[in-house]
Amino acid sequence: MKPTAFIDRDGTINIDGGYINNPDNFEIYPFAAQALRMLNTADWSVVIVTNQSGIGRGFYTTEIMNAIHAKMYGYFAAQGVKIDGLYYCPHDPNSKIEEYRKDCNCRKPKTGMFEQAIRELSADTKNMVVVGDKYGDMEAGFKIGAKTILVNTGYGRGEFEQKSHLWRQLPDHRAENLLEAVRIIIDYKN
Ligand SMILES: [Mg+2]
Repeated sequence: MKPTAFIDRDGTINIDGGYINNPDNFEIYPFAAQALRMLNTADWSVVIVTNQSGIGRGFYTTEIMNAIHAKMYGYFAAQGVKIDGLYYCPHDPNSKIEEYRKDCNCRKPKTGMFEQAIRELSADTKNMVVVGDKYGDMEAGFKIGAKTILVNTGYGRGEFEQKSHLWRQLPDHRAENLLEAVRIIIDYKN
């Protein structure tokens, strides 16, 4: 069983450009590769967990998302980064596309993607952390008993400054970005 870092995609690994419908608009933050490589070296599983309701909403197809992920994998492989798992939720309860019209259990802050990853990757459930830029990421982390880190990139700073007074629980940590978050994670094990 390995300690496992669940990492949000948009706004955490890459610039959140809204519903990204073209690999050319998928821009990975310059610090992301170093951050994920540090997790690899420290023997943490790196698992990307991402809501992609743009598929259910008809803004882009699964094929486009796969092309974006192929670009991401290619970039990270060239940087010596290993991604242990990637889980996405394509659903939207109001989708016009029947296969995606679902009040699912996977869309964050629900925990279906995390539970699947825990099963499939034999995560050490006593050593898990969720990193993301939205409260929904944090809430999923609370539910699965993970440590939680809110980054300031993407929506993170605005979410915290404008909405955190409404949150029933605060994240364990805030970090400037994914790299700083990983430095916090590495310290957990020392
Ligand atoms: Mg995000």
